[in-house]
Amino acid sequence: MDDLTLRPKTLDEYVGQRRLKEKLRVYLEAAKARGEPLEHLLLFGPPGLGKTTLAHVIAHELGVKLHITSGPAIEKPGDLAAILANTLEEGDILFIDEIHRLSRQAEEHLYPAMEEFRMDIVIGQGPAARSIRLDLPRFTLIGATTRPGLITAPLRSRFGIVEHLEYYSLEELSEGIRRDARLLGVGITEEAALEIARRSRGTMRIAKRLFRRVRDFAQVAKEETITRERALLALEALGLDELGLERRDREILEVLILRFGGGPVGLSTLATALSEDPGTLEEVYEPYLIQQGLLKRTPRGRMATEKAYRHLGFPPPVEPLL
Ligand code: ATP
Repeated sequence: MDDLTLRPKTLDEYVGQRRLKEKLRVYLEAAKARGEPLEHLLLFGPPGLGKTTLAHVIAHELGVKLHITSGPAIEKPGDLAAILANTLEEGDILFIDEIHRLSRQAEEHLYPAMEEFRMDIVIGQGPAARSIRLDLPRFTLIGATTRPGLITAPLRSRFGIVEHLEYYSLEELSEGIRRDARLLGVGITEEAALEIARRSRGTMRIAKRLFRRVRDFAQVAKEETITRERALLALEALGLDELGLERRDREILEVLILRFGGGPVGLSTLATALSEDPGTLEEVYEPYLIQQGLLKRTPRGRMATEKAYRHLGFPPPVEPLL
């Protein structure tokens, strides 16, 4: 059984995000009753929270086709025209992931497409250039972004519905894990599912990935039901500590403490010391370390907290005597 079979098809099967689901139910029902496409929807939230999955669910609930692309894949207005005019049918959903990375030119062509379902494109060059108007099927755009701050105001204002996805609670992650276990015909105790959930950083994608790895360990050990003990052994073998930190997270804190005396140190200096891209450090690794109270962003740079020292087993820094 593959990922496709595990993917929820209906809002009922989609775990968590209760607040958002309640509203979506109303919007979907109203759009269906009016026989109109759903209004354009902008979803934001960290990676792995299930934005793409939700787009699949919405398409399934509406009984329409979902077409998936991403901001960086649409370079020129012509790329956009090809998708909108050639592949979409009335009522279909176009999902643009990382919509904040659309080129300015493509974005400007998207405005009339979203508002009036038309697009003017220029064909040819110089004196031979002429503009042609494309009439488009009425469609729904679902845009997803991890960086809402980078969405321009004109683009944002063209979405009728703007919603964010939340981190999942331990219970919701555990429910997601048990759902997959059931579908895969694997037994798992509630405590085992909770231990996996605890290390999943509030993210469904991580929870499900960890569950599959733990399942490998249980299978090799010839255990039919995944117990808490097996889960803990497997999670330790995977290099995950009890705060859900992976090796790379710990390296970041170690470098900060051992090379920079716990900081403050600038983002780019820290990134260079780790041979890491500053953007990745800031967007992928730091949010969880900050959320866990292990790292602080200060005006003078990044600092390790006392909790970070203790977690890594280093003596906390002694305040300099003035
Ligand atoms: P995003 O687009 O926000 O980065 P995603 O939708 O790509 O996230 P996936 O990586 O596809 O998330 O999620 C991993 C797996 O978890 C998939 O099989 C997906 O169907 C499933 N999944 C994600 N969110 C949920 C949920 N809320 N309930 C049940 N299953 C989910």
